[in-house]
This record gives sequence, structure tokens and C-alpha cells, in this order.
Amino acid sequence: MATAEGVNPFRSLPARISLLVFGATLITSLFVTWISVQEVDGFLRGKIELKFPEVADTANISLNRWFDQQVLNLGVLAGSDVLRGNVDGLLPDAAETKGRQAARDVGGYLTYGLERFDHLDGLFVLRPDGETLAWVGSEFPLEQDVRKRLTASRSEPKPILIDTGDSFAQIVSLTIQAADGRDVGLLSAVIPLSVLAEVLPVSRLGDTGRILLIDEAGVYVAVGKHGHDVGLLAVHPRSAERPHTVIDYEKASGERVVSYAVPLSQYDLTLAVEERYTEAFAPLLAAFRRVVSINLAVVFLFGMLAFRVAATMVRPIEALSDATRRIAEDEAEVELPEHEAPDEVGVLTRTFSLMWSRLTSNALDLERSQAETEKAVQQMREKNAELQRANEVLEQLSITDGLTKLHNHRYFQEQLRREIRRADRVEDPLALVLIDIDHFKKWNDEFGHAGGDEILRGIAQVMNGLVRETDILARYGGEEFTLVLPKTDVEGAVHLAEKIRSGVAEAEFVEDLPADHMPLTVSIGVNVYGGDQRDLFEGADRALYRAKDSGRDCVMVAEGLPETV
Ligand code: GH3
Ligand code: MG
Ligand code: MG
Repeated sequence: MATAEGVNPFRSLPARISLLVFGATLITSLFVTWISVQEVDGFLRGKIELKFPEVADTANISLNRWFDQQVLNLGVLAGSDVLRGNVDGLLPDAAETKGRQAARDVGGYLTYGLERFDHLDGLFVLRPDGETLAWVGSEFPLEQDVRKRLTASRSEPKPILIDTGDSFAQIVSLTIQAADGRDVGLLSAVIPLSVLAEVLPVSRLGDTGRILLIDEAGVYVAVGKHGHDVGLLAVHPRSAERPHTVIDYEKASGERVVSYAVPLSQYDLTLAVEERYTEAFAPLLAAFRRVVSINLAVVFLFGMLAFRVAATMVRPIEALSDATRRIAEDEAEVELPEHEAPDEVGVLTRTFSLMWSRLTSNALDLERSQAETEKAVQQMREKNAELQRANEVLEQLSITDGLTKLHNHRYFQEQLRREIRRADRVEDPLALVLIDIDHFKKWNDEFGHAGGDEILRGIAQVMNGLVRETDILARYGGEEFTLVLPKTDVEGAVHLAEKIRSGVAEAEFVEDLPADHMPLTVSIGVNVYGGDQRDLFEGADRALYRAKDSGRDCVMVAEGLPETV
């Protein structure tokens, strides 16, 4: 399953849920396994604790019976007249001829006894002091301490286990009494230990079950279903240290066994019943294996199931989170997942989808109204610009004289005030020039009012061509003009006035004017600013009057100023 971006796969919801289920089922399984094992273990121990003592008891009884039989057999031989009457003759103090005869008789009888009773390896006769008198069957060296033990056990016959050199055997002995009641010797039978395989009840044990007989010297015979072995034990079975108790322990060989031991006091032997642990507790191990494998299967199955269920639950969440991420990254045309299931994720998906469609439609509305606003703003800007242009035109119109297109009276007044303020501030010279057309009434009369207007426009054009950019030329009213000259002294002003006067006088304003016709001229009055606006204007005006008085077509400066023309 693909993991959503930014999610640690080991900390994802499916991983966590399946881990939880896995852990929970595992703990339950372990607990169930432990309880099952305890139960089976208790049950098996109970069975073993019944079976092993029973086998040990049966073995003890069989052994007693068998031994009684051996003693009985031996008693038949030892009680025979052949032995009772002849053993004396074998003694050292007997006459030689008697001795030879006795030896023949005893030997023959012992050979007969060997044949008569099964399982006997040999028969021999000892003197009461332990010396050998006669021996038939397989012979082996008899240690001194064995001879002592044999003679000492006369009163109460006990089996003695010995190492014959080739094998291990059991010796059972009975005293031989002469007719007068004297002990003349000891009859001993050598019985191979292998015979016990038929005596001990091993059939009741499992394949690895064995019954051991161990003497004090550690000589043992172990009888199992599939044979027997005899030898010398390196270590006594641990059960021998705790008789009448079933214990399990590990042998030096590493083999683990279940063992139960009882001392057989009548033979000076220990009897131990043992079985390999894996066999004795085989049902336990089988049950353990079964329970563990079933539990592991359950744990695995439920873990997988939980993972699948969680993954199915998480898939729509992942789809939703993926769509949300794409929306957040401003991806175009994100398609929202559909999840119709009537669960929490379904509700979340549908709610998100609804919210998203509302947001989208709101955003569209917003975009539309933004576009509309922008359009309105644009229109407003255009209207503003138009208005501004109209204002500029109006402004221009408000300061322009309609006929001559020169500045008008209002503008002249404003500019004069402004220039006076500036002249006051920086103490620059400032000149004012008044221009009046001579005898204009006559021109009007001669060429009509419209002709007069044409002349006015012509003169304005001529004058405009003579002044500087910074000079302010205006129509004062009627056929009178004013000229404000910033940073100009009387000399400069007179010079310009003179240029205007001659310029007008030389120009032609009426087409085909007869050569003898009076020329169109102007009279000009000049004054410079001396600190008072009223004085400036009136001085210029008076100078203009004087120019008129002086015959017109001339420039006059105000009184008190140096005459420059
Ligand atoms: P002078 O100044 O030389 O003494 O003589 P004048 O004839 O120019 O004297 P006055 O100032 O008395 O006459 C001015 C004339 O200018 C009167 C009027 O008809 C004429 N006039 C004033 N404004 C206009 C105008 O806008 N257009 C025309 N065609 N004539 C005008
Ligand atoms: Mg006038
Ligand atoms: Mg005039």
C-alpha cells in the first residue's frame, strides 16, 4: 500500500493498529500457551507419579519372586546328598583317594546342576574360609573381598553383583551342611544379569524407558525394551538421592530424564525407573507445539486482518489528505475523493467536499466582483483623466482671452501680484508695459467691427512673436494690452517696448491697404516696480497718456525714471 507523503510507514495508523492487535493477541496467546502447558504438565506429572512407583513396586515383587526361585533351585542342589556327603572329602585334611572320588562326584553333580537350571553361567563351591573347592562353567578370578562377602552372607542369601572380566553377573549362594549339621561349604550360582531382562516389567515403560538395578559399588544392570546393558556407573542417578520422588534432571551426557528410585534393602540394591524426558513428556511437547503453532497462526492472521481493515479505513483519509495537500499547493483542478460510506470518514469527506465547493464558489464570486471593481476603477480613472483634461481646458479658457488667445485680464492681475511678491522677496527688477492701439475707433469705423477684431488678433500675434517665454503678455481689455516683464529693468523694458512699437508699425494688418493710408501704430507706457503695485500701474498709465499726448506711436517711461529713448 502506498503511504501518504510525510507519513512514517512504521507510525502509520494501519501499522499502529495492527501492532496493537498483534501485541494483544500475542499476549493472550502466550498466556493461553502458558496455561495449557501448565495444565498438560500437571496432568502428565500426575500420570508419571502414578506409573513410575507402580512399575518400581512391580519390579520389586518380580525380583523377589525370581530371587526366591533361584534360592529354591540352589537349595535343591545344596541339599543333595552328593554335595553334603562329598564336600568334606574335598577339604585339605581328607585322604587322597577319598578326595579324588569326592572331587569326581561333586564335579559331576555340579555339571548336572548347570544343565538342569537355565540361565546359569557357572556353579562353584567355596570352603567356609572362602577357598575354592570346585568350579564348573565359565570360571573367573574371584577377588578376596568377594569371597568374604559371599561367606558372610551365608546365613541370609543375598545376590552379589560382580564383574567377571567378560561381563557382569549375579552370584547367589547357599550353605552346604554335612549330615552332622556342620557348615562344610558354600554353593554359589553365577547368573548372568541379562536374565533380568525377562524378569523386570519394562513393557510398561515407553521406548526409552529403563529399569536400573544398582549396587553399592555402582555396578548396574539397565534393562530396557530393546535390550539391556550392564556396567559401572560413573554417577548414581540423582533420583537415588531422593528416593520415592519423581524428578527430572539432566545427565552428564546431556540427556534429560525423568527418574524414580527406591532402595531394595533386602538385596542392598537401588532400583530406578527412568524414561527420557522427551518421551515421558512427549504429549506435553506435542501440545506445546500445537498450541504455539495455532496461536502464532491466530496472531499472524489477526495482525494481517487488523492491518487490512485499518488500511481500508485509512485509504479514504489518505485520499482526502492528498487532495488537501494538492489544494494547499495551489494545484489546478483537484478532484476530491468520493466516500459514500456511512462512517466518520464518509462524513468528513462529504463535509470537506461541501466546504470546498462553497469556498470555490465564494472565490469565484470574489474574482468576479474583483474584476468588476477593477473595471469600475479603470472607468473612474478614465473619467478622471477626461475631467482633468476638461479642467485643464477650462483652466486655460479661464485665463485666456477668447479673441486674441493671449492671457486675459484676470490672469494678468494674478501674475502681476505673484511677480510683485517674488520681486519683493528676491529684489529683482520688475517692469510693466501698457500698450494702446492708436485711433482704433477709426479703424473700426473704416473696416467694421469684424475687421477691427482681425486687426486685434494680428497685433496680438506680432507682439507674441517679440516677447520671451517668461514675459507675460495679456489683453487688458478693448484694444489695450499689458506686458509684465520679470527680472527686467527700465532699460530692457523700453527696449522691448520699442521693438513692439516698431514691429507693429511695420506690420501689415489689412490687405491691400493704400500706400497713403495712415499706418496702424501703438502708444506704450513703461514703468518699473518701486515697492507699490498701485504706483506701478498708475505710473505706466500716465506714461501711456503722455505717449498719446506726445503724438502717439511712441514709448514713454513713467515720471522720475531715466529717459532712455
Ligand atoms: P486713441 O486711443 O488714439 O486716443 O483713439 P481711439 O480711437 O483708439 O480711442 P478710444 O479708446 O476712445 O476708442 C477705442 C475704440 O476701440 C472704441 C471701440 O469701438 C473700439 N473697440 C474696443 N474694443 C473693441 C473690440 O473688441 N473690437 C473692435 N472691433 N473694436 C473695439
Ligand atoms: Mg483705448
Ligand atoms: Mg486707442
